[in-house]
Amino acid sequence: MAIRNAPDALALIGNTPLVRLKGPSEATGCEILAKCEFMNPGGSVKDRAALFIVQDAEEQGLLSPGGVIVEGTAGNTGIGLALVGNAKGYRTIIVMTDTQSREKQDTLRALGAELVLVAPAPYSNPAHYVHTSRRIAEETPNALWSNQFDNIANRMAHIRTTAPEIWEQTGGRIDGFTCAVGTGGTLAGVGLGLKERSEDVVIALTDPYGASLYNFYAHGELKAEGNSVAEGIGQSRITGNLESAPIDTQFRISDEQGLEQVYSLLQNEGLCVGLSSGINVAGAIALARELGPGKTIVTILCDSGMRYLSTLFNPQWLAAKGLPIPEWLRR
Ligand code: PMP
Repeated sequence: MAIRNAPDALALIGNTPLVRLKGPSEATGCEILAKCEFMNPGGSVKDRAALFIVQDAEEQGLLSPGGVIVEGTAGNTGIGLALVGNAKGYRTIIVMTDTQSREKQDTLRALGAELVLVAPAPYSNPAHYVHTSRRIAEETPNALWSNQFDNIANRMAHIRTTAPEIWEQTGGRIDGFTCAVGTGGTLAGVGLGLKERSEDVVIALTDPYGASLYNFYAHGELKAEGNSVAEGIGQSRITGNLESAPIDTQFRISDEQGLEQVYSLLQNEGLCVGLSSGINVAGAIALARELGPGKTIVTILCDSGMRYLSTLFNPQWLAAKGLPIPEWLRR
């Protein structure tokens, strides 16, 4: 690949490499490839959505110089919006639950975002972080509510950038794509973008426990079972971004299965990623087993494990959650 140069920092968003995952590929007889979204400047896949949401708002005249961007987020979209906001001269107010990792909270503060921490609440409760962010946007002069869950500029980022990149990087030799859902922007956008190029690419949902989408796509019923400590994924409703997403099949992956991939990628491949990435890789393995050997499957490495040193790589935290502690963290 040619070495890239960028005219400005925002041009660093996207165009991420696709890495072959050796262990998962050898275990399945498929080529399992992963898009290195942790290499975006804000460290996650959400930089793409943040840039598209801000550009779309500017084009619609909803943001002007000195404006404020307000968003409810698990953290990564907030980090993306804070970077894009800094580059373009907008303030950011980010609403997040106090259960998200310390690293994401510290990063948001370091970037200059105004951080509003709220207790977790069900979506039906007006105190939910998404509704809180909408109210703050309504009460703040010159503010945009970026509304990543229902604003389809989010999935447009993946229709216009992630999907064509994957198509080009695989030379069109791709049989399946899978990832988990937070807003659904990545799954729906990459799914729609790939289907535009080939109807034959199988698009699969990989759902964590505690989310309602597996049961919806498998049985037509939005119903959650179990729970998950994964940040940034796990959805209980059909968001605007998920509407008419072309989903052919679905898997449900436990935190233990996801963590097994996180630790294996770290130890065996030198890749340090977060739990949503581990769950995605476990989903890609499940899809490879469903499609059979010889296929090419693509998934997403959403963010870096370094965003979770205080949780996924902290033996006390793992023990408190009843999760397995990898051998080298016990030393
Ligand atoms: N993984 C992580 C770590 C995230 O922060 C997010 C975004 N909430 C996702 C996965 C899911 O991405 P999307 O919102 O596009 O569904």
